Amino acid sequence: MALTPDLLLAERGLDELEQIEARALVWGLVDNALDTSEVDDALRHVLAEERNLELRRDPACSIATPRDLREHLVGLGMLFEVPGPTAGDAFWRTRMAEGVRLIARLRQLFPQHAGDARWASAPTLVADYRFLRRARRYPERDQDRHAVMAVISAAVKNPDLQSAVSHWLQQLPPNAGMSRFQVDAAERILRGLDDGTRTGTLVSAGTGSGKTLAFYLPALAWLAQRRVATPNARAVRVLALYPRNELLKDQLAEVYEQCRKFDDWIGERGGSALRVGVLYGETPRFMKSAFKQPGWRASATESVCPFFSCPGCGGEMSVRAEDVDREVERLVCRTCGESVPSDRLAFTRKAMSENPPDILFTSVEMLNRHLSNPDMRHVFGVGPIATERPALS
Ligand SMILES: [Zn+2]
Repeated sequence: MALTPDLLLAERGLDELEQIEARALVWGLVDNALDTSEVDDALRHVLAEERNLELRRDPACSIATPRDLREHLVGLGMLFEVPGPTAGDAFWRTRMAEGVRLIARLRQLFPQHAGDARWASAPTLVADYRFLRRARRYPERDQDRHAVMAVISAAVKNPDLQSAVSHWLQQLPPNAGMSRFQVDAAERILRGLDDGTRTGTLVSAGTGSGKTLAFYLPALAWLAQRRVATPNARAVRVLALYPRNELLKDQLAEVYEQCRKFDDWIGERGGSALRVGVLYGETPRFMKSAFKQPGWRASATESVCPFFSCPGCGGEMSVRAEDVDREVERLVCRTCGESVPSDRLAFTRKAMSENPPDILFTSVEMLNRHLSNPDMRHVFGVGPIATERPALS
């Protein structure tokens, strides 16, 4: 994907500002800020660079002056106006410098630090840091579906598993591909699932580069194959553990959508669709408890779900009182009316306990708490009524 001229200029402007800030940050000076003339001089220099003159002639380019570029960076959330040493003047930090400052200055507050300015004497959360700036890099998506399939077919023997991966790949847009690290991770995870060897795989890449897919493509293709091979089994086979609930919610929606890409494939082979479960503090015990569960927004007729939005339109979804009365377990979109039934998304503890989902999104804290809970531990593959243990987590 090519960046627009405005975005390319923004990236180059950001590089220039970060380079200036880095000189202070490597010495541990985190409270520095650039004044407006320093920012604008640096951006003027970027705009005058030979390689950027052509970009600026592009009719799609809306940036003409250093001020335009500065305002564009602010709009993108890459540059922030911050309080400076002298009142009345504007001072600036990029998100990089502001991020480093926040990490270095973050404090742990205990009861003795309550009131007035006593917080300032609290210990910092991060004792020390080293700062190293490297150029931004994005993994290239240069592995087309044939290249990916060649790697997977060589690693995986089960024809259904190969077919499930291929089915997912066929749904990629015509010119889209995968990154090499995604293919390598998928190959390694699938190979382990296929031949039964238990290994750990660590995938490390920058934010937004596609780590999620590197795990979920092999996990979901394997789940789809298991759905067909053992249509009556009900067990959590993949455990998705998150340290923070915000991240959990974010990825839940993405993985729910990825699951739907296997619906046809499983359906044609007589299996039932992949089912995702979500278990954390805001998961109600029953449908009815959603009306008094913390995090949910209840009225007389419905209670709005805090962790799942409509896959169709992105609108809010709710449990409706009439569904509780009729014992229909589902979420319904408040905007377009689309419904997500419990056999696709298990969102109550009861639904999960009675019929464990294929893949469970939960937190480390929940795992710790429920491993010893006689009513829930079978969901994690532990205890007398558990039928199988998760193969992937
Ligand atoms: Zn909707």
